[in-house]
Amino acid sequence: MKKRILCALLAVVLCACALAGCSREPVESTTFAMDTVMNFTLYGGWDREKTKETRDWMTSRLAYCDEMFSATDENSDIAQVNRAAGQPVELKNPTAELLSQALELCRVTDGALDITAYPAVKAWGFTQEEHRVPSEEELAELAARIDYSAVKLDGNTITLPEGVEIDLGAVAKGFAGDWLAQQVRNIYPGEDSALLDLGQSTIVAVGSKPGGKPWRIGVVDPAQPESYFAVVELVDMAMGTSGGYQRYFEQDGITYWHILDPDTAAPARSGLASVTVVAPSALTCDGLSTALFVMGLEEGAAFWRNHPELEFDVIFVTEDGEIYRTAGLEGRFSLAEGYTDREVTLLE
Ligand code: AMP
Ligand code: MG
Repeated sequence: MKKRILCALLAVVLCACALAGCSREPVESTTFAMDTVMNFTLYGGWDREKTKETRDWMTSRLAYCDEMFSATDENSDIAQVNRAAGQPVELKNPTAELLSQALELCRVTDGALDITAYPAVKAWGFTQEEHRVPSEEELAELAARIDYSAVKLDGNTITLPEGVEIDLGAVAKGFAGDWLAQQVRNIYPGEDSALLDLGQSTIVAVGSKPGGKPWRIGVVDPAQPESYFAVVELVDMAMGTSGGYQRYFEQDGITYWHILDPDTAAPARSGLASVTVVAPSALTCDGLSTALFVMGLEEGAAFWRNHPELEFDVIFVTEDGEIYRTAGLEGRFSLAEGYTDREVTLLE
C-alpha cells in the first residue's frame, strides 16, 4: 500500500517537473561590448532571480573584458603593453591567460594567426575606420614587424620589443565566450542551457535546448551576408566564423578586408570567402577561423588533418562559392532552405 502511495507521489512530482520544464521561460539580454552587439538567452532552470543575476554578472564581465583587452581603449592592459616601448608590464590574470592561449594558437598555426599584426591593422585604418591602402614599401616595413615569437610572456609579465604591438581582436571574443559559458555551467550544473551569441559570428551553445534538442545555428552566406546557407547543430559546442564580408572597405574597385596575412601585412587573399570552425572551445573557434582564413583551403584542410588534438571541425566557403566541410560534422550539418541544391565537398 505504502509503495503504491509513494509511486503515485513520485508520478505527481515527475509530472509537475515536466510541466515546469515546458514552461521554462528564458531570460534574454542584449548588450554592446567588444565593438559588437551580443545576445544571450539563458534557460536557468526554476530560479529566475538567479538567472537574472547570472545575466548581470555576464554584462559586467564583458565590460571588464573591454577594459582589459581593447587595443584602442588607452587604459586597457593591452594599450599599456603597446605603449611600454620595450619595458615589462604586469598583466591582470585574465589578460595573461588569454595571451598565453593566444600565443599557443599563433605557434600551432605557424604564425597564420599572429597577434602582433596590430601596426598593420592600424595602417589599413581598421581600428579607427579611416581606411587607406598603404604603399608597397610601407607594407614591407609593417610585415617585418609582425612576429609573435618576439612577445615574451613570463607568468603575468609581458615584454615586447620596441615597435611591436599586439591586438587580441582575433581571439578575445572567443575567450570571453568560454569564460561566460563556464560561469553558466558552474551555476547550473546538470541543467545548464544557454545560447551565448557574442556577435560577429562567435556563438557558444551551453548544454542543449530545454528538452534536450540541439541548438540550430545558421552559417552566414559570405556572398549574401543577410542569408544563412547552412545550419549546424550544437550541444555544448562553440562556433566561430571569420570572413572578408564582416569588415572591409572598397577603393578603386578593389575590396580590402580586415583579416591580414602576416607574411605581407595585406588582406589575406587565400581564395576563401569565409571559414567557420566548430569546437568545444570558443577561443579555438575564434583563433582558428582567422588562421584558416589566412591559410586557405588546401593548407587549412591539411592543418585540420594534422591537428586532431584541437578537436575542431571546419566549413570552408571559397570566393567562387564552393562549400567544403570536414567529416566530423556528419549528422550536425545541413544546407539551409534555398541552398539545398548546392554541392558540399567532404574533407576526410
Ligand atoms: P576575426 O574577426 O576573429 O577573424 O579577427 C580579425 C581581427 O583580428 C582583425 O580585425 C584584426 O584586428 C586582427 N587580425 C587581422 N589579421 C590577423 C591575423 N592574421 N592574426 C591575428 N589577428 C589578426
Ligand atoms: Mg577570430
